[in-house]
Amino acid sequence: MAIRKTNRVVGFFKLPEVQFFLIFIIPFTGAFLINYFNLPEQYQMLTMAVFACTFIVVLFQTIYSVTAHRRMRKEENSFISVTAHQMRTPLTAVRWVLQELAKSGVSDADRTEFTRMGGVASQKLSNIIDDFSEIAKIEDGQLDFHFAPLELAAFARQMITEAEPVAKQYGVTISGEISSEPIEVMADQVKLEIMFSNLINNAIKYNKQGGLVTVRVRRRAVGGTAEISVSDTGIGMSASDKEKIFTKFFRSDEAKRKNPAGTGLGLYLVRSIVLQHRGSIWLESTQGIGSTFFVTLPTK
Ligand code: ADP
Repeated sequence: MAIRKTNRVVGFFKLPEVQFFLIFIIPFTGAFLINYFNLPEQYQMLTMAVFACTFIVVLFQTIYSVTAHRRMRKEENSFISVTAHQMRTPLTAVRWVLQELAKSGVSDADRTEFTRMGGVASQKLSNIIDDFSEIAKIEDGQLDFHFAPLELAAFARQMITEAEPVAKQYGVTISGEISSEPIEVMADQVKLEIMFSNLINNAIKYNKQGGLVTVRVRRRAVGGTAEISVSDTGIGMSASDKEKIFTKFFRSDEAKRKNPAGTGLGLYLVRSIVLQHRGSIWLESTQGIGSTFFVTLPTK
């Protein structure tokens, strides 16, 4: 789904209904003006030419708008139906677990396993709802971005410190190579926090026991941008997975095995946030060796 932020007046004239109305009204207006003012022949030709050109422009614009509108509706419907499908899977798991637990004679070991499975499924359900509502808010433009000056180097150090307990839990070491010079960007702090935590958490979750996560922040020599990168020594991904990585709900088979409660929405959300900051995002990854995600943001 595209991120929509249109001026109201422009938005009004882009509505297919308004454009259909214009298509009908333009030839009538032209004919009316020519007859009503009884224009001399050369002005009649000129008026007809102007109205014919306007008619053609509006016609093409309408065809474009209707196609774009249809595509958008289709994408929205497919997002909702895919989300519903994704939610049905953990919900079915929770229902199955409850049915099994209700049976008589369940052993203690089975009870523990069913409870664990129920916990993972309900966690996944709640993760999907959290990510889905963030994405919906961003795409509706309801969640306005509040841009303010932010010192990126200090912010990145804080993000690393906050991620340390999670890294410890996964047996991973996190460190930073952060510019000692301050780097000022115009950013929405809350959204950047979502971006950092998604990239860092992924680098921790999809890592190996004893693995490393390195967060780097530097000012690029050219282009007036800051570069953030998050590297890991984890599972990496194949070339074909790399192409689908920013698609909603995409998860590699290995990621599903490693972290069953994942949603496949985090990177989509990260990309939306980066684009709202007029930045760019890409990655380098080798299967079995690790990945590095790069983000650039314009500096102030
Ligand atoms: P989630 O982590 O909930 O699955 P994301 O959108 O954050 O959702 O990630 C989508 C998929 O991208 C993951 O399931 C995984 O397959 C892949 N991925 C993301 N980050 C990494 C990483 N650092 N290393 C390897 N694979 C990754």
